[in-house]
Amino acid sequence: PAALELTLVVAATARDMGIGAAGGLPWTGLRKEMAYFARVTKRGDGNAVIMGRKTWDSIPPKFRPLKGRLNVVISRSFAPGLPKDPVGGPDSDGPVEASSLEMALAYLKTRQTQTNSEGRVFVIGGAQIYAAALGLAEARRVLLTRVMSDFSCDTFFPIVLGGEAAASEASQKWVQRTRAEHAAWIGEELAEATQTENGTEYEFQMWEKL
Ligand code: NDP
Repeated sequence: PAALELTLVVAATARDMGIGAAGGLPWTGLRKEMAYFARVTKRGDGNAVIMGRKTWDSIPPKFRPLKGRLNVVISRSFAPGLPKDPVGGPDSDGPVEASSLEMALAYLKTRQTQTNSEGRVFVIGGAQIYAAALGLAEARRVLLTRVMSDFSCDTFFPIVLGGEAAASEASQKWVQRTRAEHAAWIGEELAEATQTENGTEYEFQMWEKL
């Protein structure tokens, strides 16, 4: 298979890249936003979603593992070394328990070789796991939902994408792709630039590393 590449998926406030509050999302009721996340991460076969232990804990038990994607959870409390089979059985959605992001990627590479498949690999948070992913050459792309409304947050995406603030050195490597490029990559139309749900305004964007 081709080299594994990572796509980060995040919804963050435009003002300060806020992504979380009190262990959960800062907002509620962005139903279409969550549906977009589900469609994009499920499209195609054999996709995986990688998340930190705290993000896993934030998902209501009846909704996890996230269906139709191999869930990989990262925690220092998991056994070191290459993860074993998914907890739910070899053909389940997992979760696979990995002691580091590197071990998660090694596991997924081995699995892709064995099954001769090339599913997409998404990093779905939270801040600690985004930070680890952004430090790797495999991190190629960010699917950002830019939330225009302001929310008070205690957890933040590690780099600033767009906005007025002077870009940090890390964020200067990232460029926003056009709506057409974005639509082609996710495999669906992107009708409106801006959406509003429950009075919260947001926009779907795609950024790639130069
Ligand atoms: P994470 O989800 O990133 O999980 C952190 C945990 O991951 C750590 O406590 C540790 O687990 C494990 N971990 C982190 N780094 C490593 C490492 N290098 N090696 C091994 N294990 C590691 O937590 P955050 O607090 O950063 O983010 C959670 C918040 O983000 C929540 O509020 C959530 O709702 C929000 N969120 C928002 C998203 C959005 O798009 N807006 C998306 C995803 C989450 P352990 O302690 O078990 O060792």
